[in-house]
Amino acid sequence: MNVHDSEKMAGILKAEGYAETAYTENADLIIFNTCSIRQKAEQKFRSELGRIKVLKSKNPLLKIAVAGCIAQQKGRDIFKRNPHVDYVFGPQNIHKLSAMLTTNAMVCIEDNPEIQHTNLPAERKENVKAWVSIMYGCDNFCSYCIVPYTRGRERSRPGQNIYEEIHELAEKGFKEVTLLGQNVNSYSSDTNFPGLLRKIDTIKGIERIRFVTSHPRDLSYELISCIKELPKVCEHIHLPLQSGSDRILKLMNRGYTYEDYIEKIRKLKESIPNIAITTDLIAGFPSETDNEHSMTMKALRNIEFDGIFAFKFSPRQGTKAAEMEESINEEIMSQRLNEILGLQDDITLRKNESLKGTLQEVLVEGASKTDKDRMTGRTRTNKIVNFVGDELLSGWLVNVEIRTAMRHSLEGRLFSKHSLDAYGLDLKHKVKHL
Ligand code: SF4
Repeated sequence: MNVHDSEKMAGILKAEGYAETAYTENADLIIFNTCSIRQKAEQKFRSELGRIKVLKSKNPLLKIAVAGCIAQQKGRDIFKRNPHVDYVFGPQNIHKLSAMLTTNAMVCIEDNPEIQHTNLPAERKENVKAWVSIMYGCDNFCSYCIVPYTRGRERSRPGQNIYEEIHELAEKGFKEVTLLGQNVNSYSSDTNFPGLLRKIDTIKGIERIRFVTSHPRDLSYELISCIKELPKVCEHIHLPLQSGSDRILKLMNRGYTYEDYIEKIRKLKESIPNIAITTDLIAGFPSETDNEHSMTMKALRNIEFDGIFAFKFSPRQGTKAAEMEESINEEIMSQRLNEILGLQDDITLRKNESLKGTLQEVLVEGASKTDKDRMTGRTRTNKIVNFVGDELLSGWLVNVEIRTAMRHSLEGRLFSKHSLDAYGLDLKHKVKHL
């Protein structure tokens, strides 16, 4: 979401005549788009902000802005501690960027109840895949999470605006969109989320639709049917579990039990057998016992996720969890995190190895960053595939035979290149068909 917010800022600045520079010392304006989801991101920002101070003495015309969730949370306080900062604005006030730049200093952190109607131009770095916001904010107040305080109340963009933006992207040649929201399953405008997916699925030129993030409590059977039936909706879902213990889930205010979650997983796997499921987990939530940690480990073994994002609990000032007693000591948190990551590494590798010898439809994103002779892309299940190929294949759907499996990616051999229109095949059956 932050990456896409940066694209919107870049879009506004481009319209104002700004051009991007790769060298900070050449910049007239530097914007830090901050994240406050965990302590580590905050620390990184603070040291970067300190480092950049010297540039201001070299170029007195340089303007420095702090945007994002730290800006929202700390507001005017950032000025006090960092006199070299000129502007502070939160994620709900990106639309004020142009106006802000005409002033000497400004703080914009007010709630924006109209954010769903702000259609901002985004300057996207990629040309195959695009992020598209479908809603803003969150009403869930999970006890560990700062997002509802920084991004405000949940607001859904009108379906027509989203449709028009994606239509334009298709005309520009984009092939894949990822719909963004803190809780896409509760999208509600002129239609619900499955209705929105059905509408987007009709847009010619778009060949893949993804979405993040789904809240397990709100994952409906109607949505599961959509993933199954709509040809462009990819067979991958990111469904944050956070913990395998009901007591911890309750303390987290997640609104589901482990059994509720498993029931949704059962339904997903039964309806879409080849679906890839990924998740988020927190190690060492306050008062988590060894036994409750074992429940999370057991959940990993039972569910066999395709991938996970796991982190140590990080107290966020202003949230309920930050006030909770019985915090887990750092060493135990690290140990639990390592156990989670170690177990998942084995599962991910085993799952990737099961793909050896299969043909996978891959949307080619471009040359690999580490090897210019190799192309990189993703399967419909969101696994990274590298193969020897030509750069001209960028933006094409190709079939790749998987030869080698690693933990974080797959290696394969280009099998065939096809355009969907030429074949007119049902995407979901194409691999089997060939
Ligand atoms: S649903 Fe996600 S964004 Fe919303 S409060 Fe919970 S963790 Fe944070």
